[in-house]
Amino acid sequence: RTSGPLVEVAELTVRYGAATALDRVSLTVGVGELVALVGPNGAGKSTLVDTLSGILVPASGSVTVRGRLAHVPEGRQVFGDLSVEDNLRLGGWRIGERDTAAVYAVLPALTELRRRRAGLLSGGEQQMVAVGRALMSRPDVLVIDELSLGLAPLVVADLVRHLRELNAWRGVAVLLIEQNARLALDLCSRAYVLEAGRIVAEGTSAELAASSLVSDAYLGGV
Ligand code: ATP
Repeated sequence: RTSGPLVEVAELTVRYGAATALDRVSLTVGVGELVALVGPNGAGKSTLVDTLSGILVPASGSVTVRGRLAHVPEGRQVFGDLSVEDNLRLGGWRIGERDTAAVYAVLPALTELRRRRAGLLSGGEQQMVAVGRALMSRPDVLVIDELSLGLAPLVVADLVRHLRELNAWRGVAVLLIEQNARLALDLCSRAYVLEAGRIVAEGTSAELAASSLVSDAYLGGV
């Protein structure tokens, strides 16, 4: 890894035909940082994730990833017929990693679920499997797409606790892509607000929570 942020998106523009989905978007995720990208439906969040993953090609600007990036996809997408253990192993397949012990060490709640069929787990447990599967590739940064989607607040709080531990113990950086601004600002130290393909606000979570733009639009005005 050369020096510089783990993820560096610079003046990124992405188009679908004539429609501009991302318009000169810039953001960074530093080593060990917890960063959120918040925005409503259609803001361009999935487009950014797909560009980070190399699925979409920029019209202009650039995406630089230094180190290993793993993606926790929206909707979890665990293999329902496979056990938790086998789901984890699939996550290590690309780098030839079969040893799941390191994942159980940071996500101990998965240990007792290891023989269970992933499709029969609760949504929160499946999200934990999806995070564990991503960790198998020993990433420097996790891109987590809609962590909280469809999950009860208590389940989300538990996942957030695990992500904090993961970050503190292993220094894994996180880019959290979220519609739930309250959760995003709670977990992350910095955040960007994306609207209609543009970054309309950025700053520390404390700054954004205090700004009327964010609080009125995303935190119900509190
Ligand atoms: P959501 O949370 O609903 O997934 P999002 O923030 O991820 O929203 P994107 O899916 O990135 O937003 O969409 C950004 C814009 O690009 C939207 O206006 C969307 O309609 C448009 N768009 C997305 N995919 C395509 C496509 N394949 N062809 C044309 N337009 C698209």
